[in-house]
Amino acid sequence: MSGISLSSYRRVTVKIGSALLVDRATGLKRDWLAALVDDLARLVVDGTEVLVVSSGAIALGRTVLGLGRRRLRLEESQAAAAAGQIALASAWAAEFDRHGLISGQVLVTLGDTEERRRYLNARATISTLLKMKAIPVINENDTVATSEIRYGDNDRLAARVATMMGGDLLILLSDVDGLYTAAPEQDPSARFIPTVEALTPEIMALGGEAASELSRGGMRTKLDAARIATAAGAAMVIASGKVLNPLVAIEQGARFTLFKPSPSPVRAYKTWIAGQLEPAGRIVIDEGAHKALLSGKSLLPAGVRSVSGSFGRGDTVAIIGPDGREAGRGLVAYDAADAVRIAGLKTAEIAAVLGYEARAAMVHRDDLVLSRTPAHERNVEGTDVA
Ligand code: GLU
Repeated sequence: MSGISLSSYRRVTVKIGSALLVDRATGLKRDWLAALVDDLARLVVDGTEVLVVSSGAIALGRTVLGLGRRRLRLEESQAAAAAGQIALASAWAAEFDRHGLISGQVLVTLGDTEERRRYLNARATISTLLKMKAIPVINENDTVATSEIRYGDNDRLAARVATMMGGDLLILLSDVDGLYTAAPEQDPSARFIPTVEALTPEIMALGGEAASELSRGGMRTKLDAARIATAAGAAMVIASGKVLNPLVAIEQGARFTLFKPSPSPVRAYKTWIAGQLEPAGRIVIDEGAHKALLSGKSLLPAGVRSVSGSFGRGDTVAIIGPDGREAGRGLVAYDAADAVRIAGLKTAEIAAVLGYEARAAMVHRDDLVLSRTPAHERNVEGTDVA
């Protein structure tokens, strides 16, 4: 089987399972981590943006705190996560440092990707790290997240992070090398599936239960991750991390399963925005801003004439053109009170009014869907000018 060129991707998220990073008896597998970071550093040098989702806090905390193999109560695993995370993050930082690279630890909970307001915050922080050429090292904030508010597995967390950041590839490194028609250790007739074009019900049915006791995610959560990633237009790879330099192995033809991205990804997210039933507010814009939107730009406060409604950051608002018709809908980056205060202001004036350095856009173009334009303005495929 031929490998894939990872540096042909723009933004790659790599998720590492606990069992790869932590050995029950000896703790952190430092040599393995060092070799993986060699691979990641090479990708960064080649110009690909890299995000890491690292499991292993609880597993490492067990060894750090000498908790052995026994089943942990919730507060014990949270304590283990606290002790393990600090060791985990410093190991990542030290390995990236060998390559002259900076890393930044980001601990998220479910709400940070599922609630739109917090989603915008998390996305802004991570994209700022990337702009500063720092590598985000992400994990769930296991010390505070309890069952109803936690992912519990980093496969889906990684998929959410990858899609939130507009990534084009998600790699799940684990102790399995890909998807099989049946569990290979139990069924000798199990066939390996190298490529998944679409997540059909038959494919989704292949998700079994968690495979390894050290990690929570089995094939079930990996297929859930594939659904999240591919629907948003990212490819996903499940590959074995049991070798040293697993990313080089992927490039050189080691076995892995590739899930192809959905062919019409942007629509899904934008349809979701456009489909919000009741916009929480209305933002009336001027002619210049309308033109800017039609040419694919974000809505800046300068082009806003008036703001009405009561909305919070991340709510959906209707954007009304100078002709009084709905020009589009989007997720607004300010709450209603602040939006009113900065309507019409130039970007440079905003901080003085709000008292804090704020984002430039009122509605970012990634979070914006234009209404259907009149037929004579549509492009040949009849799609929106976006
Ligand atoms: N967040 C957990 C940890 O770092 C891992 C979850 C998982 O294994 O997917 O220990």
